[in-house]
Amino acid sequence: MADKSKVIIVPCDRYDSEQVYTAMKAGIDALGGIKSIIGTEEKVLVKPNFLSAAEADKAITTHPAVIEGMFRILNEEGFADVAYGDSPGHGSCEGAAKKLDLQPIADKYGVARADMETSILTEYPEGQTAKSFHYCKGIVEADAIINLCKMKTHALERITGAVKNVYGYICGAHKAAGHVKYPNPAIFARMLADIHNSTDTRVHIMDGIIAMEGNGPSGGDPIEMGVMLFSKDPVALDTAFCHIVYLNPEIVPTNAQGEAMGIGTYDDSLIEYILVDGGISEEITVEQLQKLFGKRDFKVDRKGGSKSLMGRLSAVSMFFAKKPVIKKKDCIKCGICVDHCPVPGKAVDFRNGDRTQPPVYDYKKCIRCYCCQEMCPQKAITVRGRG
Ligand code: SF4
Ligand code: SF4
Repeated sequence: MADKSKVIIVPCDRYDSEQVYTAMKAGIDALGGIKSIIGTEEKVLVKPNFLSAAEADKAITTHPAVIEGMFRILNEEGFADVAYGDSPGHGSCEGAAKKLDLQPIADKYGVARADMETSILTEYPEGQTAKSFHYCKGIVEADAIINLCKMKTHALERITGAVKNVYGYICGAHKAAGHVKYPNPAIFARMLADIHNSTDTRVHIMDGIIAMEGNGPSGGDPIEMGVMLFSKDPVALDTAFCHIVYLNPEIVPTNAQGEAMGIGTYDDSLIEYILVDGGISEEITVEQLQKLFGKRDFKVDRKGGSKSLMGRLSAVSMFFAKKPVIKKKDCIKCGICVDHCPVPGKAVDFRNGDRTQPPVYDYKKCIRCYCCQEMCPQKAITVRGRG
């Protein structure tokens, strides 16, 4: 019988550098230690979630204490060629790092900022859904990638965790084009699985110390969860996240499609959940995981599902999908939503170019990618309804 996927669960309730480092060391050691996963001679890329340039306490990005913990472990273990980087949905890697005061930390551990601005067209004929990608140079140059994802909700995929975080491998504006090419949650998730299969992401670490609930991945609210998750299997790791927030793992497209495409499993009978706490390591059940860390009232979309009629219809028809709505009183008319709408001719735009009023939607054109909601800096866009 094949080995089970392991998810290591380590409590951590504060972004104290020492505490986070200790938790990360314990989590990675429980997976066999970083040197059992990556060779010290390899070129390593540490890939956080830098959705946009945002302060650490907003819970939009992976917290700098988590990034520092990874740098420190790699440094202590003798890894000499380490870089970090992500391609944000809005702005630059440099801008996001600056907002998190990351550069002094990177300098301290001799970690370079990777080139995430140069795009390299990478053919992938084996892809089941995507046959090529415009990867960032920093992704192509890395021998091994460490995925430092953030525990957050997501309008399109319900959650963003280990599977979804790899979309930042795609360079800049090519991400918007991907939403047009892969226009519904299931197809988009299949494309994400092709990214996993075409790159060498060796380990996935989730910052769930303070997560984001509600209108994620950028406009939601921070919520204390007090946990870090570690796994080599991105689907199993996201499944642990689902259990913690009482979301059925099988209705999450990145889980269902990820398992179908062989990047991991959401089947609990094939996953070992291992709690590592205070030097003690023990296998726990889903019920114990929920008892320790679960939040039943965590705000996430639990409605419908791939097996329900509405879930299937919303996956194939725009008519049944949730729609983005602008809260006029919160809109500052910055136009970022318009800039990020990937649809030719724009599905959200200022009426007659009048920037004194909020933009308006043309729902007939809208492909429900929710890039506008994701990028709005004012939390002025929500997604409503299902069916
Ligand atoms: S991005 Fe948000 S604040 Fe800016 S125009 Fe669009 S809705 Fe308004
Ligand atoms: S209006 Fe928003 S949800 Fe619709 S296609 Fe444009 S960015 Fe996507």
